[in-house]
Order: sequence, then structure tokens, then C-alpha cells
Amino acid sequence: MEVERVHRKTNSPNYSARFATCAAVALISVAGCGVPPGTTSTPRTAEGIEPFSFNLTVARHIDQPLSDQRVNRIFSTADALLLKVDNNCDDVSCPVTFQRAQSVATFDNTPAIVTTESQMDALFDNPADIKIVTLMVGVCGSPSANEVSLVLGCAFTGGTAVLVQDAPPDVWAHEWGHVQGLGHRSECAQNLMHAFELETNAVDVAERNAFLSPTPGRGLTAFRAISDRPSVEFDPDQDGFFQSSEQSRSLEDLMGRRYLAGFPRALFEQHALNMRGADLRQQLTQEPSPRYRANIARALGLSRDLVACESFLSDCGSIGGELEIDELDELIEKIIALGRLAGVDNSNRTTELLLAGSDPSFWRGRDLNLRIADDRVLNLEEALARVCVLGLGLSENPNAVNSLRELKRKSAAGINNDPWFVPQIDEAIARIEGTGKFAKQAKSHRLP
Ligand SMILES: [Zn+2]
Repeated sequence: MEVERVHRKTNSPNYSARFATCAAVALISVAGCGVPPGTTSTPRTAEGIEPFSFNLTVARHIDQPLSDQRVNRIFSTADALLLKVDNNCDDVSCPVTFQRAQSVATFDNTPAIVTTESQMDALFDNPADIKIVTLMVGVCGSPSANEVSLVLGCAFTGGTAVLVQDAPPDVWAHEWGHVQGLGHRSECAQNLMHAFELETNAVDVAERNAFLSPTPGRGLTAFRAISDRPSVEFDPDQDGFFQSSEQSRSLEDLMGRRYLAGFPRALFEQHALNMRGADLRQQLTQEPSPRYRANIARALGLSRDLVACESFLSDCGSIGGELEIDELDELIEKIIALGRLAGVDNSNRTTELLLAGSDPSFWRGRDLNLRIADDRVLNLEEALARVCVLGLGLSENPNAVNSLRELKRKSAAGINNDPWFVPQIDEAIARIEGTGKFAKQAKSHRLP
């Protein structure tokens, strides 16, 4: 197993995993993690397995509605799916229960739409066991252009978890599995700890035992991180990986599904030979579902399909009005795709569009808002400007670094009031240059 040590300093929790699904990192935790979740035991079941209960604190971004009742429903659904025994994958019944410790708290020290690792650092400094944001894009340790995606959850083992508002109950349980020290186990599609599948519930005996135990290492000051296992995640030749349901899925089915972090690169690579750019582009124009279109845009970006640029550029230039969350997902996937395409677009138009979009005024005057619950809307200008900077950081184009440095100089001169804008530029530069948190050689090493 690949293992990684990290040393936490203020604002550098190093929760980064290799890919943008959800970082499973064991961190035997820190003062900043606050009060350990209360735990209680109840009598043994007939099978001799002792139930276990987590009493968890939940906090939401102030702009992201989430009721106590909804948290209760999510927890009871998570309880039920862990208790249930699945027939398709090896599974054991896991009598864990999740309980809400108090009313959902709020925070406002990050944006609701999270686009930088520095924002993730701030979120993990919040002591709540589970933090809810609106969206996460390109965070949680996605070092390269091919790993960047929308993220449903991110977790620190021995610490806490951050989830997006529409993460389903199995993702809540999955992230809490990471907090409990579990890594990914992807050989069966219904495995709860699958790297990217949704609608999961199966756990093996070791995973059940982790869910029925106190959180490891809480309250200690020293910590170490155990990484996810990227060789398992992204090696299609690995025994048992993709051998069952994956290979028999049609392209439509693959694109239509919602994965933990969008359409996974591994699946793209496996199916790339069967994907024709022209077919995908045609599908994109005909497909009614924005979630499906987001996956198609992602596939076109991953395949560096230059022809797709034209429609993505046009969409970015013209989109306006109130968006649903899936439509925002689609727009963001298109911006990320443009980032991937900027490196192969010799005309420089893609880079120029991303630079233009890095100024909130590019999006202004279009009533571009996200419809959130309780009849509120969230203005998207600053978030989209930051996503465009993220896109520039994916271009792998040395000229983009100069553009980003120039952008930083202008920002320092006050063209952008978003306090997270300059950190976004710094991360984009670091991603292109492979430095800091994006240093490729710093990923992992074996423990002695
Ligand atoms: Zn995960």
C-alpha cells in the first residue's frame, strides 16, 4: 500500500489525494478539528456485532440552505444502506447509525463555490464533522488537467469531511468511511468505498469494523496520512477492475451516469477508442439533460477535441439568466474543457476567452445566478472568474503562466475585489509549473 506522511502547518493540511474524487487521507488529528464526535454503544445484535453510533456536527455555508430535517433524512438513509446486505457485491450488514448532534451551524469564511485548495484548508479548519458547500471544482488534490473535475466530497481521515449540497447519502457515508481510515475499494460497482460509483452500499468485514469503531486518532497532535491507492483507481488492467458492469455499459449509459467526480478519466481512457468527437458533439446539441451534457463536455475536453472549442467559447460568451445546479455543472465542465483545449489551440482564442472570463465583468450584465433552495439566488460572477483562472492553470501552456502573472499584477491593482482571486492565480501557476501542492514528485512515498 502506498503511504504518505504529511506534516500539518497552519493552512497546509495536505489532504491532497491523487485525484479529484475525494481524498482519503489518514490524519491523526489536530487541535483544529475540535470536539471528537460523541459515540455511544447499544446492545449487540443477534449476530454478535455490536452497533455503533456517531453523533456528528454539521455546518453549512451561509448561502447554502440545509435543514436539520434533511440531515436527519440523509443520516437515516445512510444507516439503512449500510445495514442492508447487497447481493451483487460481497457485503455484510453494518449496524452503524449517524445522528445529528445539534442544529446545523453556518459558516461564511469561504465561498459557497469552492475552487482552491486554500479554501479547502479553511473548510478543514472548521471544527464541524461535516461541512456542506454548494459546489467544489478542481480541489481535493487534483494535480493535473486530467484529474480536475467537479468534486462531491473530500475527507481527512481522523478529521472531518466536506460535501456538496446534493451529495447523496451513500457519498456522505463514503466520505465518513474515509474519515474512519478507509481507502477506496473499486472491484465491485456497489462497493460503498468505490472510487467513483454512486448508488453504493456494500462493505466488507474490515470496512464494517471501521464504521463500528471510534474515529482513529482524534485528539492526538501528531498525525500521518495514508493515501488513496491511485494504482487501483486508474489502472484498468488491475485484476477485477472494470471487469464486470463497466465493460458492458453502453457509451450513453456511461455518459448519462453521475459519478462521484464526473465522468471518470479512467472510464474515458477505456472507452476513448469508441468515442468519436463528431458523435459526441452531435449528442451535445441534442441531449436534453445538463448532467449528461456536462459529461459529454468533459469527454470532449479529455480528448482535446479542438472542434468543440467553437461551441464552448460561444456558450461561455452568451450564457445568461438563472441556472439550476446541473446547468452550472455543465458550464463549469465546459470551462474546464476549454482549459484542457487551450494548450492545443494554436489560435490562442481559447486562452484569450479564459483570460477575459477571469474578469468578473465578463459575466456581468447577464443576470447569471444560481437558483438555490428557499427562493434565493447566488451571484456567479466571482466564482466563474475563478473557474476561468482554474482553466488557465490546466492549459499546460507556458504562455499561460505569463498571462496569469499579468493577471495577478492587475488584481493587485484592484480590478477584482474577490479575496480568493489571487490565491486562485497562485494555484493555477503552481499547477502549470508543478510546484507546491501540485508538485508531482511530492505525491507519496513508502513508510519505512
Ligand atoms: Zn473516496
